[in-house]
Amino acid sequence: MKDDNFLKEHNAKALWHPMGAPGDSMANPPTIITKAEGSRIFDIDGHSVVDGVGGLWCANLGYSNDVVKQAISDQLAQLPYYSAFAGSTNPAAIEASVAVQEFFAEDGIGRVFFTSGGSDSVDTCLRLTRNYHRIKGQPQRTKFLSLKKGYHGTHFGGASVNGNNRFRIGYEPLLPGCFHITAPYPYRNPYDEADPARLAQKIAAELVDEIEFQGPDTIAAFIMEPILGAGGVLVPDPSFMKLMREICTRYGILMIADEVICGFGRTGDWSGSRHWGVKPDLMSVAKGITSAYFPVGAALVSEEVAEVFEQDQSGNAAIWHGYTYSAHPVGAAAVTACLSETLRLDTKTNAAARGTQLYDGLMGLKEKYDIIGDVRGGHGLMTAIEFVSDRATKTPLDADTVKTIQKRVYEAGAMVRPAPPNIMMSPPLIITEAEVQIMIDAFDTAIGSV
Ligand code: PMP
Repeated sequence: MKDDNFLKEHNAKALWHPMGAPGDSMANPPTIITKAEGSRIFDIDGHSVVDGVGGLWCANLGYSNDVVKQAISDQLAQLPYYSAFAGSTNPAAIEASVAVQEFFAEDGIGRVFFTSGGSDSVDTCLRLTRNYHRIKGQPQRTKFLSLKKGYHGTHFGGASVNGNNRFRIGYEPLLPGCFHITAPYPYRNPYDEADPARLAQKIAAELVDEIEFQGPDTIAAFIMEPILGAGGVLVPDPSFMKLMREICTRYGILMIADEVICGFGRTGDWSGSRHWGVKPDLMSVAKGITSAYFPVGAALVSEEVAEVFEQDQSGNAAIWHGYTYSAHPVGAAAVTACLSETLRLDTKTNAAARGTQLYDGLMGLKEKYDIIGDVRGGHGLMTAIEFVSDRATKTPLDADTVKTIQKRVYEAGAMVRPAPPNIMMSPPLIITEAEVQIMIDAFDTAIGSV
């Protein structure tokens, strides 16, 4: 490895960073993280902080899990790669698919299609729903419905169902036939409805209205995150996902739960769908499936949907879709080890307890600081603060001040993620009580200083 001077000199000079302007990264070089232990990260200047971001909502087991590391290294020695396109497979992939199937059996999941990440998984789910309807003799069911503020990755399918302008405008035209309904965001919504349960009812009526308007038998699927993550940790009313499920069932529309963030314990349950008592038809997963030790995702299919494919008489069941690294043996070994560690450590229980601690601590700061407009979370370790310059008008705090707060939180001991006017948190699910307190105290110091 080159020395620190080389790294600083070349930082962002050759590397274009995702989700940012190349010129900005050159002008304000990103923090170089050199080492990580447990839930802590260390930067090139030796500053160590609690990783309140968990990598990117993904390092669920923290950074020091030797079981996962060993499984990866053993698999590298045994078989570093072989294709899983129809006709060949590998032992690690078979084992991992069973582990995932068992992990999500309670959600009604029957089959597993491996991918390389979340965006792949979303696009795979979208495609599979079109296959499904074609097999069932309804090839005209091609449209997709989703929530504004939803985030579903950056492939063209995912970007098309995405509900945030930033990821859409600039890449249009996107996939035709994608339509969006209001997000379950009690703090800001076009109905001015602050009661989450009543807002859920209004959005349910909107979904029915949109389905009727489009023509029920033109719609393939509805996709949603059980708790909207990147859109600002929007926690819907407990009735919301159930209402969406009922409407999808009523109209023969498949429900895709995008569990890329929510899956594997982050919400305090093993899936976000289970947290709300819903069984989706498909799930997209990634991140926590390997806790980021290797890039893997998966599209998961319910028993009922799987049977339609497996008992096909129409000749339309072939999945002409897949990735070179689908069921990659090293990734698969990481999946099996990660799931077994996730269950052994019962990370969902810690996520629930520490999530409540973090939420309560930040709600305490809301009493103290007027610039905190909204604190969202309390369902596991997905948390956000929305900053305002005026509580009465809910005017968003300017982006520069939000970024200054983030920098000061870092100086005071925790990495958190700015997405103005929000700052988001999603630490490893193994985080300790003392480390959560460091995060809360760091916010207290940082906000106090601005
Ligand atoms: N869906 C959701 C809900 C996500 O949060 C993300 C990533 N944060 C994705 C899809 C895309 O995943 P990836 O970045 O691994 O492609």
